[in-house]
Amino acid sequence: MNGETEYSKAREMMVREQIERRGLRSPRLLAAFRKVPRHLFVPPDLRERAYDDGPLPIGKGQTISQPYIVALMTSLLALEGNERVLEIGTGSGYQAAILGELAREVHTVERHAGLALRAAEVLSQLGYVNVHVHTGDGSLGWPESAPYDGIVVTAAAAAPPPPLLDQLAEGGRLVLPVGHRLEQVLQVWHKQGGQLTYENIIPVSFVPLRGQYGWSESEWERY
Ligand code: SAM
Repeated sequence: MNGETEYSKAREMMVREQIERRGLRSPRLLAAFRKVPRHLFVPPDLRERAYDDGPLPIGKGQTISQPYIVALMTSLLALEGNERVLEIGTGSGYQAAILGELAREVHTVERHAGLALRAAEVLSQLGYVNVHVHTGDGSLGWPESAPYDGIVVTAAAAAPPPPLLDQLAEGGRLVLPVGHRLEQVLQVWHKQGGQLTYENIIPVSFVPLRGQYGWSESEWERY
């Protein structure tokens, strides 16, 4: 595949076959996926596969998530356009770009400085001035810009990190995979009247969240 026309055809197929057909039909959400050039967020030698129905490697043992999973996690945040959002696990920067289309302000934290730098370059080239990339341990959240109306974690934790629950605004939603190497479920946490409740959505498979409230290598490998 080469040339922007080919990529936009593949992107349209991705939106119809992988996202809309599986039941995610919000026009705002679909417009964001139609717009963001996913192929620019994957390594050049994998661009041909950028619109495939699965995750792809992006270096440092990490992945860009399957398009449908990015769409599902984004839809669970129920963004209307005026929110401040935090993403933990910038990776390629693709999900951050999607969030940048749908929210007012996005902060995204990545522990690998090289990935954060690369993602920040692509996001800046594409003009996402409302997306701020930070390097650090995202299991601690990003307190400087809290509270957040939505928080999305793109790596699996054993339980929601307490700093993320603290940094969630009243009425806010936290979307994250919870579990170990072999079994995880996507959860949505809601903060209403100071009370926290959660729902299980679907089984998922993510790389581990590291850091203070994440998995150590030995604990993760034990499963
Ligand atoms: N959202 C990404 C995208 O659109 O490409 C996909 C992210 S990948 C599935 C998970 C990312 O979480 C990896 O890049 C990994 O380095 C990062 N990560 C894991 N633990 C982290 C932590 N404690 N703080 C920040 N990033 C972390």
